[in-house]
Amino acid sequence: MTTSSESEWARAVKVIDGASQVCLACHVRPDADALGSMLAMLHALGTRPGGAPSVVASFGDEPFEIPAILRFLPGLELLTPPDGYPAQPEVMLSFDAGSIDRLGALTWPAEAAGELIVLDHHASNAGFGTINLVDPAAAATAVLAAELVDRLGIPLTEQIALGLYAGLVTDTGSFKFSATTPAVHELAARLLATGIDPGVVSRELYDRAPFSYLGLLAAALGRARLEPEAARGLGLIWTTVTRGDRAKAGLGLDAAESVIDEIRRTDEAEVAVVLKEDDAGTWQVSMRSKSLVDVGAICSSLGGGGHARAAGFSFAGSAGGASAADDAITAIRRLLDGR
Ligand code: AMP
Ligand code: MN
Ligand code: MN
Repeated sequence: MTTSSESEWARAVKVIDGASQVCLACHVRPDADALGSMLAMLHALGTRPGGAPSVVASFGDEPFEIPAILRFLPGLELLTPPDGYPAQPEVMLSFDAGSIDRLGALTWPAEAAGELIVLDHHASNAGFGTINLVDPAAAATAVLAAELVDRLGIPLTEQIALGLYAGLVTDTGSFKFSATTPAVHELAARLLATGIDPGVVSRELYDRAPFSYLGLLAAALGRARLEPEAARGLGLIWTTVTRGDRAKAGLGLDAAESVIDEIRRTDEAEVAVVLKEDDAGTWQVSMRSKSLVDVGAICSSLGGGGHARAAGFSFAGSAGGASAADDAITAIRRLLDGR
């Protein structure tokens, strides 16, 4: 159950039941929770008893590129690039976006939508929809998507379950984080009971990479810096993944996602940061903490957002290149010290 009121859930069900077309969207540079939850709903609405509404699903990245590690998810061929998305959807559902601007190119359709149903679990979410299914205690948006599927009376299929399970695995750190409640395991059990293979999901998400990834990882680990005095003595570890690293490895930005999981285990640091340079030269910054520092608050004040223990922001800076990364880490250091 969630903290969203019964009346919000009832309104969401009524609006979806009465719609002739439903448009789905998730946040830019989608992770498995965003894309998996959205694809699950795409499959669910397509299998509705008593006639399906037409469904459009997308995310607002231009160019429209599916992150390589998510290409095992079923239903990608059903996605519509943002330029084919209705400008004024009758009913729109937003997945895993903490604020409307996280929808990128789909921000404008969201603002124009007749009804905007927001499914999300960011504490910072101010409720930017006309109907808000927002629960900061939920381990993943997939938990809320599963509840909506249930409330719509749609039985789980393997296709629905796979997207939801991928989201659940990702946002709980493979059932390791503190948000992994008994209810999370109960949902996981229901999803597995459809017949999906958890081994396939973990192998696709975590246990594979091209050989060239080792070179990228070695470069990033080689320049990792430990600052034990930072964060008021709690310690900071940080590194970068540059465009040059990725060019050498022939890899996209999503290949750098797992670098943070390598450095965040460092005993001497409460906070870990990876600055990843995207193809346009903007730094996409990932922050993690172990138990004390609210990195979501820090990223929010730097124009991004996220959760207390996992958050991020984008930083273009005026300098560009390596000195923009230096500026970003300087800003982080200052906020970590409470200055
Ligand atoms: P990541 O480090 O990319 O895995 O992101 C961790 C979490 O931080 C995500 O689940 C989002 O909640 C949030 N986040 C990352 N980047 C941004 C951003 N640019 N703006 C707002 N929130 C972000
Ligand atoms: Mn997400
Ligand atoms: Mn999420």
